[in-house]
Amino acid sequence: MLPLLKALLLTLSLWSLLPATAAPISRDDPESTYPDRKGTSSASGSAVVVTANPLASAEALAVLKEGGSSIDALVTAQAVLAVVEPQSSGLAGGGFLLHWDAKQRRLVVLDGREVAPERSQPDDLLDASGDPLPWRQATAQANAIGVPGTVALLWEAHQRHGHLSWGRTLQPAIRLANAGFLPSPRLLRSIRLAQRFGVSHSPDFQEIYLPGGQPPPAAQLFRNPALAQTLRQLARKGGPTFYQGPLAQQILRGINELQASEPNFRGWTPADLSNYDVVRRAPLCNQQLQHRICTMPPPSSGGLALLQTLALLNQSTDLPSSSAGKPKVWRQLARAQAWADADRLYWVHDPLDGAIPTEALLDQAYIARRARAMQSANGLRPTPGLPLGIENYPYGVPDRGIEHGTSQITIVDAGGNIASYTSSVETIFGSRHLVAGMVLNNQLTDFAFKPSLGNKPVANRRLPGRRPMSSMAPTLVFSNGEPVLALGSPGGRSIPHLLSRVLLASLAWNEPPARAVALPHLSSRGKTLVLESDPPLPWPFPLQQLKSEASLRRQGIGSGTALVRRIEAGWQGAADPRREGTALALP
Ligand code: GLU
Repeated sequence: MLPLLKALLLTLSLWSLLPATAAPISRDDPESTYPDRKGTSSASGSAVVVTANPLASAEALAVLKEGGSSIDALVTAQAVLAVVEPQSSGLAGGGFLLHWDAKQRRLVVLDGREVAPERSQPDDLLDASGDPLPWRQATAQANAIGVPGTVALLWEAHQRHGHLSWGRTLQPAIRLANAGFLPSPRLLRSIRLAQRFGVSHSPDFQEIYLPGGQPPPAAQLFRNPALAQTLRQLARKGGPTFYQGPLAQQILRGINELQASEPNFRGWTPADLSNYDVVRRAPLCNQQLQHRICTMPPPSSGGLALLQTLALLNQSTDLPSSSAGKPKVWRQLARAQAWADADRLYWVHDPLDGAIPTEALLDQAYIARRARAMQSANGLRPTPGLPLGIENYPYGVPDRGIEHGTSQITIVDAGGNIASYTSSVETIFGSRHLVAGMVLNNQLTDFAFKPSLGNKPVANRRLPGRRPMSSMAPTLVFSNGEPVLALGSPGGRSIPHLLSRVLLASLAWNEPPARAVALPHLSSRGKTLVLESDPPLPWPFPLQQLKSEASLRRQGIGSGTALVRRIEAGWQGAADPRREGTALALP
C-alpha cells in the first residue's frame, strides 16, 4: 500500500477511538459487562474453589471441607448458581467439563452440550422469506431451546467421582431457592438487561423475576419455590429423573405448551429427553508456551482457536522476551485471534457428521504457512485455510458479520483432583422461557442460521440430534505431566480471545493469577478490534500504540475467568473482577 494511503487509514482508525460505549448484548459478548466491580478476589491453600458468585464459592468450599471431591463441590456450585446466577447457567442449559483424576492420572472430558430435538429442521431460525431471523428475536424462540445436558453431565461426573451423596451436594441450592437469598447487584442488573432485551414472550419470567413489573427489591430475600421443588425431586430421585419420569414429563409439558404461541415450533418428543447422552471425548492437547495445554475438542471451536492463536503468535513474536508492557505482542495477538477465528468458524461442527481436522489445523507446517499469510495480509480479512490432506473447501463460508450467559467454575480438591467446567444458558437468561423454575437455554442459536451457502452446506448447520458449535473452552495446562493451571471463561465468541490472553499472561509473562485475570482484554471482531474500556488493571501503554488495520473500538468486555494455578505451597485461585466471582481456599 502507498505510504500516504497507509498513514491516512491509520489516522482514520485512530479517529475511531471514540469514547467508550456501553456494550450491547451480542453473540460476541452475550451478557455484557458488569460495572460495579471491586478488587480481584484471590485465595491460596491446599484446595481452591473459584466461581462467579460468593454464595456458590462458599457452599462449594463447605463441601470440600466436609471431605467432598472437586466433583461434589462442582455439583454444589452449579446447583447454587442455578439459583443465584440464573442469568448465566442452570439446570436447563449445557456445559463442558475437563476433569483431572489425580490417582488415575487421567484427564476426562465430558460433553453436556444441548442437542437439537428430533423435529428440528435446518431452516427453523429463518423467516418466511428465507432470511435469518434477527439474533435477538431468535434467542426468544422455542426453536432456540436445546435439549439440556447440564444435569446429565453432573450426574455422570458424580457417579464416577463423587464422595458425598448426590442429595447432600444439592442441599445448599434447595435451601437458597426455598428460604431465599439477597439478590446480588449483578443479578438485579441482569434482570433489568433482560427486560430491555425482551421478556414479553415469557409470562413465567415476568412472574418470577419481575414481580409487579420491577426486579425484586435488593434488600429482600428472593425465593424461587418452583426451582426448590425441582431441585428436591432431583436430590431424591437422581439425575435421570430429569430425562425420564415425572420431572421429564413436566419439562415436556412446559416446552410443548409453547406451541400454542409459536405455530412454527413442532415441539419435543419424550425420546428427545430420554435419548440425551453425555459424550466422553478425547481432550484436544497441544504443546504451547513450554506447556502442554489441553482443552475442549469439537463441538467446541474455542479450544482449537485458543491453541491456534497461541501457535500463530509463537511464529510471529519472540514470546520469551515479550511482556505485558510491549504493544507489539498485543498487536500480533489481535491478528492471531482473527486468523484463528476464520478457521474455527468454518471447520467446526458436531463430530457426529464426520471428523474435524483439528490435528491438521494445528500442524506445525500449516501454522507456519498461516503465520506467513497473516503477516503479509496487509489488512485483508482472513479466510479459512486448507490444511494438508484436504483438497477442496467442503462447506459454504458463513458470514461472521451478522451481529446479531455462561459461567466458569474451577475447583481443585485436597487430593489434587481438578474440575474445569464451563456452563451456559447461552445469552442472558437464555430464551427467558422457564419450566419448573428453571431458565431454558437458547443454545440452538449457536448453529448457523443458514444451512447452506453458495450450493454448499454450512458445517455448523442445524440438524436433529446435533450439538451446535460452541466457543466454550475449559482448559487444563500441564508441565512435565503434572497439572499446573486450570481455567475457563464465559464470553461467547470472544472466549478464545480472552483465554489466549490469560494464558499468555500466565505462561509467557509469568503474571500471578490475580494479575493474569485482571489485565486488559482485546478482541478481534471482523473489521473491528475491540479494546477493553475501563479494564480492572490499566492498559500498560497508551492505546494509540495498538494501531491496527482494523477500526478500533473501546468497549466493555464481559469476561469471567476462573483460574487456579499451582504454587509452591498448594494452589492459588483468582476470580475475574469483571463479575462477582470469588476465590476461596482451604488452609
Ligand atoms: N453459547 C456460547 C457458546 O457455547 C457461550 C455463551 C457465553 O459465553 O455467554 O459458545
